[in-house]
Amino acid sequence: MRHRIAVVGSGPGGLSFARVLHRHGHPVAVLERDPAPDARPPGGTLDLHEGLGQLALDKAGLLAEFRALSRPEGQAMRILAPDGTVLRDWRPRPDDLANPEIDRGRLRELLLGPLDVRWGRHVTRVEPGSRDGVLVHFADGRREVFDLVVGADGAWSRVRPAVSPVTPHYTGVTLVESALDEVDTRHPDLARLIGEGSVAVYGVNRALVAQRGGGGHARVYAQFRAPLDWHAELDPADAEAVRSRLLALFDGWAAPLLDLLRHGAAFVHRPLHVLPVSHTWAHVAGVTLLGDAAHLMPPLGAGANLAMLEGAELAEAVAAGPGDLDEAVRAFEERMWARAGEWAKITTAGLDRLVSPDPADALALFDRVQPS
Ligand SMILES: Cc1cc2nc3c(=O)[nH]c(=O)nc-3n(C[C@H](O)[C@H](O)[C@H](O)COP(=O)(O)OP(=O)(O)OC[C@H]3O[C@@H](n4cnc5c(N)ncnc54)[C@H](O)[C@@H]3O)c2cc1C
Repeated sequence: MRHRIAVVGSGPGGLSFARVLHRHGHPVAVLERDPAPDARPPGGTLDLHEGLGQLALDKAGLLAEFRALSRPEGQAMRILAPDGTVLRDWRPRPDDLANPEIDRGRLRELLLGPLDVRWGRHVTRVEPGSRDGVLVHFADGRREVFDLVVGADGAWSRVRPAVSPVTPHYTGVTLVESALDEVDTRHPDLARLIGEGSVAVYGVNRALVAQRGGGGHARVYAQFRAPLDWHAELDPADAEAVRSRLLALFDGWAAPLLDLLRHGAAFVHRPLHVLPVSHTWAHVAGVTLLGDAAHLMPPLGAGANLAMLEGAELAEAVAAGPGDLDEAVRAFEERMWARAGEWAKITTAGLDRLVSPDPADALALFDRVQPS
């Protein structure tokens, strides 16, 4: 008899899991809180690494389609000083496919393909150990039983409490995200500043990063060290008030850099939370986690990649049956913890250096990971 399997969450991790299982002909219930695929803006762009996110897509049989959709030129990276001086200007070779960018919306469409997601299924709680299997509780009062429930439901996972009491904590760094549309025609100077990939400017305990997406969109990220309630007297819906606070924070930086904030729209407040480095748990039969639900870390280009590879690997382990499902999950967890623990150390140290009292730290880090 086939195992009854559910994955909670249709982010990059949950969809990679479901898509690889689908490829192996194994049914899976994808339970997603959002009422529809377009219920929320999909977000910016992701770089998918050769040995991580791209490997997951290969396991899903989607690598060729990814190559057609992705933007290798988006790997370009320029670093400026706050006075506008260009410090580094790195461009990928045309055949460099190590970390191409893809818009999150396109990646989602690619992974969704033939999958039949159950939209509007908000999981509130997961209860292992019942006689029939693992009981999943939904916000509308419904309940359903599965043999394996995979929590791929992100930072504030509702599945996680079934295996671990740990919750995310604030890093001390906040990110305020803004967007520029039709950047080439409406803001040609900013388009030149951003280039084909990203531009980053590092100051004392703060940074400005702008990144080009597809279709003339760009995202701007203001990052700074601040208490969690830094915006206590601000109305977050008042874009002009947020803008003037940010402009004050970056006071003294070159005018073209501040234009990234002057022209940005719809500021989104993202305090950066993380789970402890090397978060593990005592194995619980029938429930596991992957992606941000298991190892939320600073957003330095690894989170979606890890979530995808974990999803693909767990799916392969499950599909390999008919062995002991629980043993397959245990082995997956050991592998995930080891790899994610290393990345959590790297990204935690990386955040400390990128939003640091000494901007030279950020430049040194760039030179180490991106030697010219
Ligand atoms: C600004 C920014 C830039 C980033 N850039 C990169 C990058 O370039 N490369 C990279 O690898 N990573 C990047 N990351 C990190 C990356 O976004 C995450 O690590 C990744 O999305 C995690 O994937 P996931 O599938 O684990 O969870 P998520 O993407 O968070 O997906 C979780 C899903 O679960 C659903 N859900 C949540 N709760 C419930 C519930 N109770 N019931 C049902 N469904 C639920 C959500 O609606 C969502 O669809 C970035 C992050 C940020 C903030």
